[in-house]
Amino acid sequence: MNQDITEMTAAELSRALHRRELSSSDAAAAYLGRMTQTESTIHAYITPTARRALEAASAADEMLKNSGAPALCGIPYAAKDNLAVEGVRMTCASKMLADFVPDYTAAVVERADSAGCVLLGKTNMDEFAMGSSTERSIAGPTHNPLDPACSAGGSSGGSAAAVAAREAVWAIGSDTGGSARQPASFCGLVSLKPTYGLVSRRGMTELASSLDCVCPITRDVTDCALAMNLLAGRDPGDMTTFDSDEDYTLALTGGVSGMTFGIPRPEMLDECESSVRRAMNRAARILETLGARVTEVDLPLEMALEIYMVVAAAEASSNLARFDGLRYGLTAEGATAADRMRATRSAGFGDEVKRRILTGAYALSSTYGGGYYRKIKAAQATVCRETDTALDTVDAVLLPTASGVAFRLGSYADNPTALYRSDCFTTVANLTGIPALQIPGGGDGHLPVGLSLMGKKRAEKTLFRAAFALESEMKPFVGKEVGRDAVGYAKPC
Ligand code: GLN
Repeated sequence: MNQDITEMTAAELSRALHRRELSSSDAAAAYLGRMTQTESTIHAYITPTARRALEAASAADEMLKNSGAPALCGIPYAAKDNLAVEGVRMTCASKMLADFVPDYTAAVVERADSAGCVLLGKTNMDEFAMGSSTERSIAGPTHNPLDPACSAGGSSGGSAAAVAAREAVWAIGSDTGGSARQPASFCGLVSLKPTYGLVSRRGMTELASSLDCVCPITRDVTDCALAMNLLAGRDPGDMTTFDSDEDYTLALTGGVSGMTFGIPRPEMLDECESSVRRAMNRAARILETLGARVTEVDLPLEMALEIYMVVAAAEASSNLARFDGLRYGLTAEGATAADRMRATRSAGFGDEVKRRILTGAYALSSTYGGGYYRKIKAAQATVCRETDTALDTVDAVLLPTASGVAFRLGSYADNPTALYRSDCFTTVANLTGIPALQIPGGGDGHLPVGLSLMGKKRAEKTLFRAAFALESEMKPFVGKEVGRDAVGYAKPC
């Protein structure tokens, strides 16, 4: 086999492994080798797990001797550092958990383990998943493989960069307000934020429990469908999950003829860079050429962003109360329990985490908040109603994932709250619990633009079908416009 193993998609590698043309141990060795070359530039991982990977790979090779091994058996992947893996340090990129080693494993990692997947390591992120640039990490920033001076996005920037830099075939991230879709967009990759409850959150460190989703980040739409076949389904340990026995790969090829797509009214794209508006127009034209109807819709995007910031901060302040210096992670000195708690939380949390705990505690406080949280939840119900109305008339909505391409690292250093606006197209899917699938939609120079397809609850198959159709048509554009970098997976066409 002449092809570099690290260039292969999960679907291609799966075929080669099942035909026994390659072994999982070969694949693990190739990826671990790649990591030694590129990690010093990209810094996608916080904790690589090389020994665990080699052991998992030889176990997978045994599984692959028998017919019926799972599709992703033997395939190397990475997991965000807010997903617990028994015996492996989980930092959530925070000083608070710098030495924390969980004695339990996240449901999605259990699923991946039992399917014979090979975990290469835990990836970098913004502290407790608060951020959009993977710069707020105790481990330092992750660099975008398509341009190392730029951000890989966040908060799952390490997971996206690992896939784009060919340091993992695919990766798991989390998305509370856009944290898997936006880094996938910045790195030219695919990511699905599933319907809330389709993928178990057990063992993921919560940011905002009512919004959090565990998501795959992959090289193309087919790989994303394969990853969802692995991750989706009921977990008795997460009461919000529901059954799913779908084979998402079967949904890919139906085409879009006869379907109707909504697009935001032009003024809703005013804030977008021109490359994003161009990508939107082109994708809409492609859908029409393929026999679909495209119509303008209203979406409560601005309202969703404002509500998101309050709901996410309120839930985060409550979730992070468990870091009290007694039960997990860091313990600072102090004369009394209250002193120790104050000292631990002051030393353990970074600025953004403290900012959100303060905002969230204020919103929840009956003394100061004045029923603020109740009003915000009522406003969230309005966002759900308006989004339902928009989706009632269409099969899916096409919208940008971010208003621009990857920004330079450090761009928001002096104005951290300006970064909140990077979630303006993504939070609506989290607040309403609906699925949204990010795909590359062309590019600006050497950096990719991301587009999302958003649908009704449990309409993942519709999104896969439309995304696959768009991907097949857009590939030549993406290849030409995104000057594919030597470091990245994406190569010149
Ligand atoms: N960027 C968003 C935030 O900082 C989203 C975070 C996320 O999805 N985890 O809140």
